[in-house]
Amino acid sequence: MIQILSQNYQEIHNKSASNTVIIDDIEHKIYYNTSSSSKKHLHLLLDKKFRPFALKLIKNELRELSKLHGFEYNRVSIKNQRSRFGSCSSLGNLNFNWQIILFPQEVFRHVLLHELTHLKIKNHKHEFYNQLIEYDPDALKHNRWLKKEGTKHFLVNKNLPFLRGVPRRGVGFLHFQNNRTMIRTKNLRQYKSLFDLFR
Ligand SMILES: [Zn+2]
Repeated sequence: MIQILSQNYQEIHNKSASNTVIIDDIEHKIYYNTSSSSKKHLHLLLDKKFRPFALKLIKNELRELSKLHGFEYNRVSIKNQRSRFGSCSSLGNLNFNWQIILFPQEVFRHVLLHELTHLKIKNHKHEFYNQLIEYDPDALKHNRWLKKEGTKHFLVNKNLPFLRGVPRRGVGFLHFQNNRTMIRTKNLRQYKSLFDLFR
């Protein structure tokens, strides 16, 4: 069972060589069709499959918040951020860690509001927090939660061994070869099997 925006999702594992993950966001079920049932294997697959799903949830919420507060942002994307929750560029592009969808709904919303507030105020001075509190009256509580609990809620965290020694920007693709999940790093053009990575 995992929680996505405060909703319980049942995780169902079927033994199959297809290495696919299907998210049923109506019945709130996640089907893993994989040969391995190791949690790390499943969650690594999820790391790839959840990005488009997370982007959809993030864009929906951003639209709602913009209707409420009149934000104007540029592009929204999911980045390979392991410990950060989001960022806002000087061009008004918003980037998010897909794993913020694993936070409670109100904290997820807070992360979006934090980056949206950066559209107006780039720093983290008093002015920034005063503005953020106007959008989210529980901003300080949510900020404390993020510092204490945030990365603990990540399924794929920065301490996973596959990130050591692999350029951060290079962790981009998952490939499936001979029924084994392979990670190809963009920079190194190197294949490592999951078995090697999690040993
Ligand atoms: Zn910030």
